Amino acid sequence: MTRGPLEQSPVTHPVPTSLARTMRRALSVGGALLLGACTLTEAPRSQPTEAAEEPWNWSEETVRSAVDQVRAGRDLNPAAWPGGARVAVLLSYDVDNETVQGLRTGQVSIGPLSQGQYGARVALPRVVELMNRESVPSTFFFPAWSLKLAPEQGALIQESAMHEIAVHGWIHELNTALDGPTEERLLRQAVDAIEEITGERPVGYRAPSWNHSPNTLQIVRDIGFLYESSLMHDDRPYELVQNGEPTGMVELPVEWILDDAPLFNPRGNSYMNPRDVMQVWIDEFDKAWEEGTMFLLTMHPHVIGHRSRIVALEGLIEHMKAKGGVWFATHADAARYVREQAGMPAWEAPN
Ligand SMILES: [Zn+2]
Repeated sequence: MTRGPLEQSPVTHPVPTSLARTMRRALSVGGALLLGACTLTEAPRSQPTEAAEEPWNWSEETVRSAVDQVRAGRDLNPAAWPGGARVAVLLSYDVDNETVQGLRTGQVSIGPLSQGQYGARVALPRVVELMNRESVPSTFFFPAWSLKLAPEQGALIQESAMHEIAVHGWIHELNTALDGPTEERLLRQAVDAIEEITGERPVGYRAPSWNHSPNTLQIVRDIGFLYESSLMHDDRPYELVQNGEPTGMVELPVEWILDDAPLFNPRGNSYMNPRDVMQVWIDEFDKAWEEGTMFLLTMHPHVIGHRSRIVALEGLIEHMKAKGGVWFATHADAARYVREQAGMPAWEAPN
């Protein structure tokens, strides 16, 4: 893959000051809700004092501009999936390892870091072995530091020439807390670092903690990714719309129901038996099959790769294969296919 336009000037996107403050608060609240997977705590922010800033006093324009920053555009679910399949199954792994076990916050502690290394040392090989044995192409999203700490993960994933490696930030930084230039610098250097280790430039982006800052979408567009996979407007692939304008960017949406981390934390408040979680995923898959859409599941090697959980994943794949009519694909292959079916111009890597 060719390199992106690294010499571009930093992105800045002016937002009216009061709106920017309001949005930072909204993102802060949303971020706190979304961080179950990553056990990050954020410093409390100050509460609004000006009555004019209370949301029930917002002008029509303020509400609409808040919502319109990033919106779902046209549905990109194709009439049929390759080979006449009824449903596309996209399995993804966010290979967070040590980055979510302290590195991202700087709260470094040896016990949690050991759980991170379990991800690279035991869990990822177990997951890759299962995907290869079942011939299920998958996508592995890496924070660059997770790959830098254990670069052998890249070679293991690439060995079958079936899987995709994509980018998930630099050190799983909380991108919503960064200014635009810093967020862009970290993402560009993450893409470069992953390319340096794997020899392939990532074409897909998933935001750490699945959230966008007011700058994220523009940065993702400027870098020239094929697809984005962090948002939740739909169950089906769709085109992202930024401030009312279609972007040509394919979104492959995620969902917390379809994530292993929150429900598999044995010290969390919402712990579920892995076999019960498998049934939730089977129900999600069966409805996607009926509707002829897409099933996208996010897992984390250090979470799903334990012995009692990999059993749940094996059971899910067994169910899917028994049902039939499934197209297992990487996110990149799915994004290319839906673009083509929708009559969008073929995606080209930036020069
Ligand atoms: Zn992550």
